[in-house]
Amino acid sequence: MIPFLDLKAQYASIKDEIDDAVLRVLASTRYILGEEVEAFEREFAAYCDSKHAVAVNTGTSALHLSLLAAGIGPGDEVITVPMTFVATVSAICYTGARPVFVDIEPATCTMDPAMVEAAITPRTKAIVPVHLYGQMADMDPIMDIAARHGLAVIEDACQAHGAEYHGRRSGSIGVAGCFSFYPGKNLGACGEGGIVVTSSDSHAEAIRMLRDWGQSQRYHHVLKGFNYRMDGIQGAVLRVKLGHLERWTRARRSHAALYDKLLAGSGGTTAPVQAHGRRHVYHIYALRASGRDRLREGLRSVGIECGLHYPIPVHLQEAHADLGYRAGDFPVAEAVAREALSLPIFPEMTTDQVRQVVEAVEECAYAA
Ligand SMILES: *Cc1c(COP(=O)(O)O)cnc(C)c1O
Repeated sequence: MIPFLDLKAQYASIKDEIDDAVLRVLASTRYILGEEVEAFEREFAAYCDSKHAVAVNTGTSALHLSLLAAGIGPGDEVITVPMTFVATVSAICYTGARPVFVDIEPATCTMDPAMVEAAITPRTKAIVPVHLYGQMADMDPIMDIAARHGLAVIEDACQAHGAEYHGRRSGSIGVAGCFSFYPGKNLGACGEGGIVVTSSDSHAEAIRMLRDWGQSQRYHHVLKGFNYRMDGIQGAVLRVKLGHLERWTRARRSHAALYDKLLAGSGGTTAPVQAHGRRHVYHIYALRASGRDRLREGLRSVGIECGLHYPIPVHLQEAHADLGYRAGDFPVAEAVAREALSLPIFPEMTTDQVRQVVEAVEECAYAA
């Protein structure tokens, strides 16, 4: 049996450190925000080469507050991609703005910069590229277009902790970068968590207020805020795990390189590539196969657990039918939704397990 990811193995490998961190917070009674969260904010900002980091309760809240801090609201349009987790789009809707989709590039499955300009209208205020699977979108052309049209760029880096684009860290290129610490992400809390990184003093200040009821000081509510604060225990746990993240990322990258090598030329499958100048952190290692559902069943029958990211693109989700999109509007995203299969990848995986997965993929492909 090869699981899709193995959080028990991760916990077992760092149990003493995690247990100490949790007990320290329990004893301190700093259950919400507090010193551990502040220290984590400093450490994560440094990790991302950003000036500030503001910790919140989820990646979705990080996106929501970054959009609000950029002044996005009702009547505005925000350009993003339909091949993402639904939260990217929900966060745009929370502000009252309208999500406008552009298709992805087939090679990387991230926003196709060539599609962006045609989607801009006088109401467009921001672009939210998604660093899907752990690889950054093609940021240089996206930043150029944004600069020409006066748009804010907010990076959805929820899957891309430590990814790089020509040596620049994810989250550090746009006005803000948003990360999730959902347990299965490359850096995961023992519960929910998220953070915004930014090098803008004014954005950091606005987001700090918005996450805590819009207070400038206690009971002085300058903004209509939210309760989006991070727990002390999550801050302490994330500090411990941040210390292991580079080692875990190296393990993910080495498993992905072995997958790439062994799968090259294997019948009927291709994988999105790591583009030149980018450091992919492989939150997801996806294959594309025309007989994806059959392949998934075949792997399941021999005990190999896979995932789908994502089987229905957001423009075809019932919840967002009001946007008026239809099947056929974004052919690349729709093809990826039909064909992408996420293979097991996690730092504690062994190279032997990678080989077993590849052998099973080849057997299923030949049997088909
Ligand atoms: C996980 C994820 C989110 C949402 O993060 P939560 O912490 O679950 O709210 C947003 N966007 C993408 C691309 C994600 O993968």
